[in-house]
Amino acid sequence: MFVKENLINFKTKLEPGVSLVAVSKTKPIADILEAYNAGQRIFGENKIQEMVSKYEELPNDIQWHMIGHLQSNKVKYMAHFVDLIHGVDSLKTLKEINKQAKKHDRCINCLLQAKIANEETKFGLSFESIEDILKSDEIKEMSHVRIVGLMGMASFTDDEKIVSEEFKSLKTFFDDLNTSGHDLRILSMGMSGDYKIAIDNGSNMIRVGSAIFGARNYIA
Ligand SMILES: *Cc1c(COP(=O)(O)O)cnc(C)c1O
Repeated sequence: MFVKENLINFKTKLEPGVSLVAVSKTKPIADILEAYNAGQRIFGENKIQEMVSKYEELPNDIQWHMIGHLQSNKVKYMAHFVDLIHGVDSLKTLKEINKQAKKHDRCINCLLQAKIANEETKFGLSFESIEDILKSDEIKEMSHVRIVGLMGMASFTDDEKIVSEEFKSLKTFFDDLNTSGHDLRILSMGMSGDYKIAIDNGSNMIRVGSAIFGARNYIA
């Protein structure tokens, strides 16, 4: 019962225009169904195999988002159904997504992951590399991927000022890209611990796990 309550509670607080990705990694089918029955349709997973098996068991109007770091050799397992890939951080991965999407005659929506945190552990591209990818000839030739936005994770710190600055820097970059002619719509920033700060700084898609499903049993 608590998943449904958490979700409804969460959604009533959320301003319109901000999409909620319910991050269900490590959580059982029953929990996802509870959220589904409360109206949630977008779910996020960070491991391809886990997402595939959940996809196969659950209703097919769920939009599955891959939020984890990608291994190129596994893209093929989700290419027929994945709705949005958040963590793309190389041209090589984009090429693989394009190749696999083509086999299914699909166009897969992707977000480029920017590195905004001052931590070695966070994946992501520099702003400069993002501009290079968006401008590249290779991307223009990929007719089966569409870059629809950016994703970023802030530093893991209690210092809200740092988190806020990091999100703000990505929002500014996102706006600058759109001003210079790109058409990016999604800015995926914010998790259970920092989604409020992310929204205050312009996020329009948050990825929330533990605040809906409760704490995970292991670090995923
Ligand atoms: C696990 C995860 C989340 C959700 O984390 P919570 O703190 O449980 O909300 C969001 N984004 C990414 C990339 C994740 O791996």
